[in-house]
Amino acid sequence: MAPVAHDPGFKENEAMDMTTLFTMALGLQAPWQVKDLQFNPEGHRLDILIDFTPGTDFPCPVCGQPCKTHDTEERTWRHMDFFQHAAYLTARVPRCKCDQHGVKQVNVPWARPGSGFTLMFEALAMMIMPTMPMNAAARLLREHDTRLWRVAHHYVDDSRAKVDMSKVKEIGVDETAGKRGQDYITLMVDMVERKLLFAVEDKGHETLKAFKADLEAHGGDADGIKEASLDMSQAFAKGLREYFPNAYLTFDRFHVMKLLGEAVDAVRRKEAKERPELKKTRYIWLKNPSNLTASQERRLDTLEGANLLTAEAYRLKLTFQDLYYQCDHMDASQFLDEWIDMTEASGLEPMIKAAATIRDHKEGVLRWFKSGLTNGILEGINSLIQAAKAKARGYRTARNLITMAYLIAAKLKFDLPTLWETVPRPTFRVTKRPLRSPVLA
Ligand SMILES: [Zn+2]
Repeated sequence: MAPVAHDPGFKENEAMDMTTLFTMALGLQAPWQVKDLQFNPEGHRLDILIDFTPGTDFPCPVCGQPCKTHDTEERTWRHMDFFQHAAYLTARVPRCKCDQHGVKQVNVPWARPGSGFTLMFEALAMMIMPTMPMNAAARLLREHDTRLWRVAHHYVDDSRAKVDMSKVKEIGVDETAGKRGQDYITLMVDMVERKLLFAVEDKGHETLKAFKADLEAHGGDADGIKEASLDMSQAFAKGLREYFPNAYLTFDRFHVMKLLGEAVDAVRRKEAKERPELKKTRYIWLKNPSNLTASQERRLDTLEGANLLTAEAYRLKLTFQDLYYQCDHMDASQFLDEWIDMTEASGLEPMIKAAATIRDHKEGVLRWFKSGLTNGILEGINSLIQAAKAKARGYRTARNLITMAYLIAAKLKFDLPTLWETVPRPTFRVTKRPLRSPVLA
């Protein structure tokens, strides 16, 4: 006879099926299994009670020797939501008595030692955290953000400890402004693998010392670094010479163009005192003609016809971009000398000053023709970090910012259930060849 709903035997079977289903869904294996489910729809809560087969010997968490159970301790872990209901796993966790190591709590397969979350919950949190501000992730997961930060720190530290840097040959260095633009973190990137290797609080040449130590702690060789892409600050160049003596230096072209953009603006600001038509034209001179709107273009045409010093500085900057379209190092070297002469003859102080800086860094500027390196990848990473920071309105600590930078850009592998593998990660393009449309800062 077919069972009917009011038959008590039917309900019992149904409940048994549910615990089996949850045992399977959680991936539990003997001696662990789901014993009971308590569903509280008003409290939006599902409790999953797990237990082990009595008489099981568990391995000592230190040496792995099977040991007798000494006693048990009830613990609860937050699990991924069951639809819109918060799910918790509760189990009595055995403490085993090892002859060598004494009484130890055994490891459970669904959580790492010391965590109040299941591995699946942590995998979900690690998937979500790099994609949104932490307070939004905390709202979505209904957890306190300091607990989520602890999860992020744990996995980032754990994964970074295993990173192999023995093959790193080309690096890029750049800094990013931290909280309220005052604190800085410096980013060191593997230019070949296109990933963040190291981030450190502070800026300046000592950051390269810290990077060297970190590189060597990960099997890398500072003397084996052959190429490095930097901005033109004295600090990074000094640090590079000191700690990476075999690295050729390429001054990043985006930073070179930025330097020239600032020089053009300095000319404009001075001239605007006598030529009011230059007021509020800063962005017109910063952009390339091809990136201007139609009205900006008309404005630029008028300004260029007005015999302005700013227009001359602007033309010098545009001419400089042609450097990166020269065939080779030799042509480029000659082109650069001519450009410096031309700029000196212009009599425009800010441009002359910028040209002198470029002349002082000539080999590094021209190294691009051999290394093909630009900080494009760093700019990409930097803008993701800036965007994350803007959304989060700053991170409370530099450590949080650094952890987020690793989460976003270090391509770390986490020891977590496969949930993570299905998530697309941000990718960056490295420009190794001249861009067909020159890019300005
Ligand atoms: Zn032991």
